[in-house]
Amino acid sequence: QQLAAESYIMNVFDMVQKRNAHQPEFLQAVKELFNTIQPVFVQHPEYIKYGVLERITEPDRIISFRVSWVDDQNRVQVNRGYRVQFNDTIGPYKGGIRFHPTVNESIIKFLGFEQIFKNALTGLPIGGGKGGADFDPKGKSDREIMHFCQAYMTELSNYIGPDVDVPAGDIGVGAREIGYMFGQYKRLKSYQAGVLTGKGVGYGGSLGRTEATGYGVIYFVNEMLKEKGLSLEGSTVVVSGSGNVATYAMQKAMQLGAKVVACSDSNGYIYDPDGIKLETVKEIKEGVRGRIKEYVDKHPNAEYYEGCTGIWSIPCDIALPCATQNELDVESATLLIQNGVKAVAEGANMPCSLEAVDLFIENGILFGPGKAANAGGVAVSALEMSQNSMRLSWTFEEVDSKLQDIMKNIYRKATTCADKYGYSGNLVAGANISGFLTVAEAMMAHGVY
Ligand code: GLU
Repeated sequence: QQLAAESYIMNVFDMVQKRNAHQPEFLQAVKELFNTIQPVFVQHPEYIKYGVLERITEPDRIISFRVSWVDDQNRVQVNRGYRVQFNDTIGPYKGGIRFHPTVNESIIKFLGFEQIFKNALTGLPIGGGKGGADFDPKGKSDREIMHFCQAYMTELSNYIGPDVDVPAGDIGVGAREIGYMFGQYKRLKSYQAGVLTGKGVGYGGSLGRTEATGYGVIYFVNEMLKEKGLSLEGSTVVVSGSGNVATYAMQKAMQLGAKVVACSDSNGYIYDPDGIKLETVKEIKEGVRGRIKEYVDKHPNAEYYEGCTGIWSIPCDIALPCATQNELDVESATLLIQNGVKAVAEGANMPCSLEAVDLFIENGILFGPGKAANAGGVAVSALEMSQNSMRLSWTFEEVDSKLQDIMKNIYRKATTCADKYGYSGNLVAGANISGFLTVAEAMMAHGVY
C-alpha cells in the first residue's frame, strides 16, 4: 500500500509537470502538497481509484481576458486579466484578485491551488479560486485605477456571483479597488452584496475584514508559542511588507506586547531599534501611498536599506514574511536560524521557498505555513458572505471573537492531523493533510465528473 501510494503520487506529479512545464510557482505549490500527503493514500486507497489528485491539480476552468482602458494621457492601455476557478467542491470559488506586473497564469494558479486547502481549513463552505491582472497600480492616478477596475470587472462580471465565485482583494487590490469593482458589477448586473468581499462597511462590508489576515496571523503565532510555553510579550518581531497583512500583523503583535523592529516595501526595508511607529507606516502607505523609506524622515533613529532580503539578517525571535511569494530563501532562513529565531509564520502566500521551509522544520523552528497562518482573511470574507446573506451586520467584537476561534481551530486541526499521520510538530504537513481530506472526502461524495 505504501508503494502504491508513493508511485501514484509520483506519476501524478510527472503528469502535472508535463502539463505545466513553464509554471514554476504552480509546480512549487503542488510539490509542497505532494511532499506531505502520502500517508493519506495509504489510509484511503479509494482516493487513488477515483483520481482525486489528478482532478484536484487541474483547475475547473481558467478564464483569461483582455482588459483595455484609457490612461490620463488619453493613451489606450491593454492588460491581461485572469480568474482561475480551481475547485468548488465545498463551496463557491473564493479567493482574492491580485493586480501586480508579475501576474501570469502560473502565479494565479499557485494562489488558486493553495486557496482550495486554506479555505477548507477555515471550516467554512468556500471553494478555491484566484484572479488578477498584470496591471501595475504603482504611480497610477485614482482615475486610472477606477477605469482599470471597471474594465476588469466588465469582463469578469459574467463569471461570478454570490453562489458561484466570490472574489476579494489581494496584492494591489484593497477597499478602494473593491469599491470600484462592486460599483461596476452593480451597474452591469444588479445589487448583489455577496458578489465580492472586502467591501466598505457602509455597503455590505464586514467589520474586522481589514484587520483579519494580520490579526489572524498573530492569533495563530500565539497558539504555536503557547504550546512551547512562549509568548509574544517582550519578543522582537521582524515583518516584511507594509501592506494590509503586514500592517495589522504589526498592530496585533504590538498590542500583545511584542516589539516590531522592521518592515519593508518592494524597494527596501526600515529598521527602527525603538520599535516601528505604526501610525507613520499607515500614513505613508494608506494615506499618501508613498514609499517606506519616507519613514526615516520622521524618525531619524531609524535606518533605511535598499533591497528586500536584507531584512532577514536582523536578529529576531519571530519572523513574519508578509510581502510576497519566494521572498525568503534558504540563505535568509540560515541567517534567521543562526540569529536565534524561534518562530516563523507566513502572512503572505508561499513567501518561503521549499528549501527554506525544510530548513526551519529540520531545525525545530516553529513554522506556520501560509495556508493555515494567513487563513484569517478569507475566513472573515466568508463571514462577510454570511452577513450579506442574512442582510445584517455583526459587531467588530463578534467578528473578532469568531476569527480567534477559527484560528485556534485551524491550529488544532493542523496539529491533530500532523500527529495522526506521522508528522508530529510539522504544521506544513498537518495543514496540507487536514485541508486535503476535507476536500477529498467531499469530492468522493459528489462522484466523478
Ligand atoms: N487574498 C486573500 C488570501 O490570500 C483573501 C482572499 C479572500 O478574502 O477571498 O487568502
